[in-house]
Amino acid sequence: MSKTMNISRILELVEEKKEQFITLSDAIWAVPELGLAEHRSAGLLIQALEREGFQVERGIDGIETAFVGTYGSGRPVIGLLAEYDALPGLSQEAACTSHKPLAEGEPGHGCGHNALGAGVVAAAVAVKDYLKEYPGAGTVKVFGCPGEEAGWSKMFLARDGYFKDVDACFTWHPGNCNSVQGYSSNANICVYFTFRGRSAHAAAAPHLGRSALDACELMNVGVNYLREHVPTEVRMHYAYQNAGEKAPNVVHANACLKYYIRAPKMALAVQVLERVKDVARGAALMTGTECDINVTAGMSDFIANDAISRLFVEAFNLAGPPQFDAQDEALARAFWDQYSENEKAAGMMRINLSYPDGEKFRDTPLVKEIGPYFRIDKYMPGSTDVGDVSYVTPTGQLWVTCYANGTPGHSWQVTSQVASSITHKAVVCAAKTMALATVMSFLRPDVVEQAREELKQRTGGVYVCPVEPGKKPVMP
Ligand SMILES: [Zn+2]
Repeated sequence: MSKTMNISRILELVEEKKEQFITLSDAIWAVPELGLAEHRSAGLLIQALEREGFQVERGIDGIETAFVGTYGSGRPVIGLLAEYDALPGLSQEAACTSHKPLAEGEPGHGCGHNALGAGVVAAAVAVKDYLKEYPGAGTVKVFGCPGEEAGWSKMFLARDGYFKDVDACFTWHPGNCNSVQGYSSNANICVYFTFRGRSAHAAAAPHLGRSALDACELMNVGVNYLREHVPTEVRMHYAYQNAGEKAPNVVHANACLKYYIRAPKMALAVQVLERVKDVARGAALMTGTECDINVTAGMSDFIANDAISRLFVEAFNLAGPPQFDAQDEALARAFWDQYSENEKAAGMMRINLSYPDGEKFRDTPLVKEIGPYFRIDKYMPGSTDVGDVSYVTPTGQLWVTCYANGTPGHSWQVTSQVASSITHKAVVCAAKTMALATVMSFLRPDVVEQAREELKQRTGGVYVCPVEPGKKPVMP
């Protein structure tokens, strides 16, 4: 392979096949499936890879809708992370500015993972086409990672060594601006507390009953007191999975709570988890019930890697931002005009993490500029399992404008815009950027090496997975 990269050829290769991947994004959008059940969506992505000559291994790590597609040979090995799960209840007509579900109560792509998966496969195919013309430079792998919203497959893949021989990873996510992520995300642990007591007639023989529902309530009270005594940034959320019997005149023998414990670092989340477990055990002791504690999944905080991210943003500038037209601007403005000041302020949170001078976009419905890469000691409150990958291999995360500024995350407005011409252009832009970044990594092993050294320094080479080996993801 020539040591000088033919940039314009890579961009051409994406352009040549772009219609097929825009169609793929829309096809996945049209069959929204929840986490770990994305059979049709994964199938569409696998089909696209196999048609292009990728070797695809399905159902990896015992997860039915996970896969890895490989093309090329030798080092470096560059991984591209694809997601394709939808969210419950966010069905919505495409490019429509009023709330019109296609199917009431059904899932929709309210986080844009349809575009995410299609963009990643488009990038990998362009890299493959480039490797055909300039063979022998390295290997590209597409990791099909189901259940980003719930299930969190990347944690299992990271725990089980799927990125061990991967030199670096790139991924992207639809957003309201164009940047390479220099900030972190909250770590999150998912844990179930199942209490078991003894049923009894609640009036005739309450002394014989041991209430699992009481245990849940006491546990939540205990955790609500605990909030004052953990670092301010910690977030603890709970939901009843089973609140016992329907009848009030029965002592409830079984009840279950699901908790999320979030903190800016996984190490802190693990410490808080131990205290929450003590609260649960205390509730069991108080009520004479038994408590089963099951940590089913976790998501680590994201470790931004300067070496790989600088290369990524260089690729982004070579690819250029999405080329929006007047129709895209008009659609974005129509959404923007509906958003409240609070929604617009929430949109600015991400923009201010992405641009040192983000305030200039406060009145901009559709953000077009590419931000510079800059590291900032802040984190987004949400969580992503890309964090787990970022602990085990240098990982770059790109955001590309797919919807109007001020669009709330996980909303019908996202579902609507990620099947519009705004996102179609973003898919092409993301594919170009990731294809360029992959080939640049092939040609600059020194940057990849530097990125690995940086990762070692940032983590001390330690990745803590809160879920013990052998446990498989559970359907949320
Ligand atoms: Zn997402």
